[in-house]
Amino acid sequence: MYHRATKQPAAATALAAALAVAAGAPAGALTINLSEITNGNTYPIIGGTAEAAPALQGGGTLASVIQAAADYWETVILSPGTLNVYFGWSNLSGSTLATATQYTVARDFNGNPDGGPSGKDGVIEFDNSGRTWFADSTPFDNSEYMAFFEPMVDLGGGEMSLGREYGSPTGFAVGAHDLFTVALHEIGHQLGFSDLGQPIDDQFYDGTGAPGGTVGYVDIGPFEGADLTLSGEPGSASPHLAHSMALMNPSISTGERRYASDVDVAAIHTLSQFGSVDYNAAAIGAGAEGTIPLPASLVLLLSGLGAIGAMRARRAA
Ligand SMILES: [Zn+2]
Repeated sequence: MYHRATKQPAAATALAAALAVAAGAPAGALTINLSEITNGNTYPIIGGTAEAAPALQGGGTLASVIQAAADYWETVILSPGTLNVYFGWSNLSGSTLATATQYTVARDFNGNPDGGPSGKDGVIEFDNSGRTWFADSTPFDNSEYMAFFEPMVDLGGGEMSLGREYGSPTGFAVGAHDLFTVALHEIGHQLGFSDLGQPIDDQFYDGTGAPGGTVGYVDIGPFEGADLTLSGEPGSASPHLAHSMALMNPSISTGERRYASDVDVAAIHTLSQFGSVDYNAAAIGAGAEGTIPLPASLVLLLSGLGAIGAMRARRAA
């Protein structure tokens, strides 16, 4: 679930911006199959009827945006498997931007031999109750955002990013919720941040093998040993991270875009125990590696803001 939020000023950080091109999913990687449930049709798994699409700004559609989000995750999760996601619009209550529901509590990405819903099939509903949505027709170029933040810290498993967040929106991104970010977040739930019938803190362990309370211990991958901070009190069913710029933080403001950071990927890696995960792909999708030079005009603008362009070294998965 993703809620709108009032944003505190970003703590710190590196500022950079760059264009990036999304690569296709490597052979053998996770396959995410998307099925749109259109207005008047019944959602599988959860029941209920999908509603009409709201007006969107930016030239994209829900189908095109969630496809881009699925493409991104397919470059990050390299373990074979299948995730079937049904998606549509619903009138959600209160501050809820979207919600993800899974068919069962299983962490099985290998599907169900009967051809029916697999253990990881799920539904993602997006809110059509009247908020302003930015449906970017080119979600990977991030050109509507003038600032990029990537706070780095060592949580016990080596220096890692706590978030990859774009701000300072322009054009259609101003005052609008980024549909692409919300799609990335909700698929992140399907990939591991589910309640699975037990509180999120009980799904992680601390370094001693005991339930971790508000700490999520990373026990696999390049950041093994990191203690992530989980959202909510011990026993809370809210499956989120507390790190404020993390994709899997429960809240986001208008005018922001986030990609998966190291803490997001490491958490999903641990929760689903994927055998192969590409941390670099998550960063490349965010343009965080600065592999394409900034346009001169953008460099000037960033300089005018007193920004510092910073690049971080890639880290092997
Ligand atoms: Zn959520």
